[in-house]
Amino acid sequence: MFKEQSLNFLEKYLNTPSPTGYERAGQQLWIDYISEFVDEVRTDFYGTAYGIINPEAEFKVVIEAHADEISWYVNYITDDGLIYVIRNGGSDEAIAPSKTVLIHGEKGVVKGVFGWPAIHTRIGKDEDIKPKIENIFIDCGATSKAEAEELGISVGCIITYPDEFFDLNDRYFVCRALDNRIGGFMIAEVARLIKENANKLPFGLYITNSVQEEVGLYGAQMIAERIKPNLAIVTDVTHDTTTPMMEKKKEGDQKCGGGPVVYFAPAVHHNLRELIIDTAKSKEIPFQRAASSRATGTDTDAFAHANGGIPSALISLPLRYMHTTVEMVAKEDVANVIRLIYETLMRITPDFNLKYHDR
Ligand SMILES: [Zn+2]
Repeated sequence: MFKEQSLNFLEKYLNTPSPTGYERAGQQLWIDYISEFVDEVRTDFYGTAYGIINPEAEFKVVIEAHADEISWYVNYITDDGLIYVIRNGGSDEAIAPSKTVLIHGEKGVVKGVFGWPAIHTRIGKDEDIKPKIENIFIDCGATSKAEAEELGISVGCIITYPDEFFDLNDRYFVCRALDNRIGGFMIAEVARLIKENANKLPFGLYITNSVQEEVGLYGAQMIAERIKPNLAIVTDVTHDTTTPMMEKKKEGDQKCGGGPVVYFAPAVHHNLRELIIDTAKSKEIPFQRAASSRATGTDTDAFAHANGGIPSALISLPLRYMHTTVEMVAKEDVANVIRLIYETLMRITPDFNLKYHDR
């Protein structure tokens, strides 16, 4: 389903921490990987990277994913050397207790653990203690603030989880940060396909890996204004709602293995969305539908609302256990998102009608 070279890249890319605001190492890997498939690669001041095919073309098409992953910040170190944290993105305190962490300190990476009171000391109390941002803490083995600082830890250091990539039952990829490093992988694979098939595109293609999505779609907002594309196809992950404790009436009905999820939302341009759906049907690519009220919560919103409105669409990859360290995606869906983006691009020309009205 995937080339060995592609899988090697994916594994290395996922295993490299790329926290929001600190995406540099991951972006460098991505730039190195994509550069042989594109005419040139550019970056902006905050680290968003984009590979371009046909940089001279006037009509510009973006395919986009986000490069960052959720993490924590060191917020406060106690006199006893324990570390309290704040979120950098939508990090989940419910999964923190007893996880190993990597603290990215001044002197390199320092190991730590999220400690948690023993079950023996909690049972019998009227209400069990639940992990909250105010009560989770990291023990880095230091017994004083000075000792923690000696290890290179200070307020503002980034904290990530060490969980790495693996294949589950030959059906799923599992890793922390599949949201959305898998997106960067998928758009890079589209570029690889275009290169290998020697496709001549009638437009400039901007394969864009944006920073800072998890804290407010900021990288996409910046790059939309820089590139000023005519249209944008965004990819991100969405929830598999078939796992326990998911409410389909609220979250919709999408599942891993069901194919790419095409979104319906005000920010999603009808003509572009219909082109995607028509492409899926004619190429027999399975797909699912999902709706978003108000905002999609993805970089689609940033593109759609930039530069007086950039026609944009969203193709999502179903994912289980979002923002945990065991995010799961179906390999088949990954392959189908790549195909759907690729085949849609093959049908885009600079005279593609992007108006709802004829004047
Ligand atoms: Zn996310």
